[in-house]
Amino acid sequence: MISFEKSKAVKEMQHVIGTVAENMMRPKARYFDDNEGEIPWDFINFMHKAMKNLGAATLVPQPEPSNGDNKKPKTTQVYQVMAYTIEMLSYGDPGLYLCTPRGGLGSAAVQAAGTPEQKKKFLSNLGGETPIFTAMAITEAQAGSDNSAIIARAELDEETNEWVLNGEKIFITGGHKAFIDTKGYIVVWATLDPEARRAGIRSFVVEAGTPGAEITKKEKKLGIRASDTVSMTLTDCRVPFENMLGSPKIERSTTGFKGAMETFNVTRPLVAASALGIARAALEELKRVLGEDGVEIRYGLPRQKMTNIEREVIDMERMLRSSWLLCIKAVWLSDNKQPNSLEAAMSKLHAGEVVTKITQKAVEILGPIGYSRELLLEKWLRDAKINDIFEGTGQINRLIAARKLLGYSGKDLR
Ligand SMILES: Cc1cc2nc3c(=O)[nH]c(=O)nc-3n(C[C@H](O)[C@H](O)[C@H](O)COP(=O)(O)OP(=O)(O)OC[C@H]3O[C@@H](n4cnc5c(N)ncnc54)[C@H](O)[C@@H]3O)c2cc1C
Repeated sequence: MISFEKSKAVKEMQHVIGTVAENMMRPKARYFDDNEGEIPWDFINFMHKAMKNLGAATLVPQPEPSNGDNKKPKTTQVYQVMAYTIEMLSYGDPGLYLCTPRGGLGSAAVQAAGTPEQKKKFLSNLGGETPIFTAMAITEAQAGSDNSAIIARAELDEETNEWVLNGEKIFITGGHKAFIDTKGYIVVWATLDPEARRAGIRSFVVEAGTPGAEITKKEKKLGIRASDTVSMTLTDCRVPFENMLGSPKIERSTTGFKGAMETFNVTRPLVAASALGIARAALEELKRVLGEDGVEIRYGLPRQKMTNIEREVIDMERMLRSSWLLCIKAVWLSDNKQPNSLEAAMSKLHAGEVVTKITQKAVEILGPIGYSRELLLEKWLRDAKINDIFEGTGQINRLIAARKLLGYSGKDLR
């Protein structure tokens, strides 16, 4: 049964990360927004050490202990703790949160689609002496929402037993930190056969320093400017056979693609958690400024007796809380090894809309002061929108949810 009671681990983590958010992230948020491309090493090193000391409070779920083949998989609270952690870090600053070491989409992909050996190899080393970043490269110029249109190629060199990757990837979050600034890795999606569309797609771990893989461009962005977003080229880039995530068996089925897509069931609710951290920050800031102006929200009054601002604020709180419930349900299902693709899509879609609405409303209600750079509200408005774009846009997650709810296939409803 889903319980809404926060576990001891969550409460402890919220206290620790809450202090970091308030005292370390907020004071630096404006600086790293203004100085896009500068790497927040102080924050990165601090978080790396802090997470090492905390042990359990890592952003990356560690390889799970085996239960033996026939036993029911053990349930954990890993993803619930992660959702609360990410919400709190994004409350501190969403750009800096994306600079938290040990995490990143690459490690989430390994966790979702890797074999036990791959998890051991590519997750266990994240907690070493120096910080490590990981990233995931799916998007190509002609393949964004429709990632079955990927044309980056993976071919097996049977003599050397290596995969040879060729192609170009764009918009890779944290790719610079994973590949240039630290010795991490990027999980690259490529096709064994472009004609086979989904059936041909697999994901490959490309480690920093692999010859033939090059970071080519750093984007300048509207928001989350503390986080780097890069392009990458792969030219006869050779990776070991065992770096293909999941089963090495090559078959013309969609199993490999499904394995790769499993990553989204894990990461979408976590994007939702990040979005809701920004939304909470904006809402709290709005109430603080209103409070300073003598405007308190009178809860419990009949709606028609409230002022318009009171109604607006209460509606924002309702949106935030309902969205959080969707997010918690999606991560609870992950922790309990239950299917959650519907809930993952719904939580991401809802939170992406909610954070966009709440940050926009907060700026609107405060007028000129909301729009000015004196507060962080205008920044949060810019930071918010990405949550409705990456990991599947709002439209795409709505399509996925509709297909699941109505029983349509991808061919029937697109
Ligand atoms: C800052 C940033 C970071 C990113 N990080 C990563 C990353 O780490 N790794 C990675 O692989 N990618 C990343 N992306 C890429 C991101 O996932 C894609 O931009 C996103 O999936 C949309 O793809 P697209 O840009 O090709 O848009 P398109 O697919 O061209 O879509 C354009 C518009 O059309 C809509 N649309 C498309 N198809 C449909 C449809 N069938 N029905 C209704 N509407 C539709 C979309 O919702 C969107 O509004 C990042 C992007 C940004 C901006």
